Amino acid sequence: MNKCRVCGEGQLERREIWIGCSHPSCDYWLHAECMGISAKTKAFVSSIKWYCVKHRSMKH
Ligand SMILES: [Zn+2]
Ligand SMILES: [Zn+2]
Repeated sequence: MNKCRVCGEGQLERREIWIGCSHPSCDYWLHAECMGISAKTKAFVSSIKWYCVKHRSMKH
């Protein structure tokens, strides 16, 4: 598992939901909790498109 780009930790019991950049060649991951959406479910997280800082600024 990758390290969270926000807090630098790996898998944590209380931070089991991860969000990855939706760009196909990007490995940017962070905890959903570190994004401030800890109340959401895994289903919610997997349904959204999210891009890291680098890819967010690109047109897609
Ligand atoms: Zn984190
Ligand atoms: Zn990215």
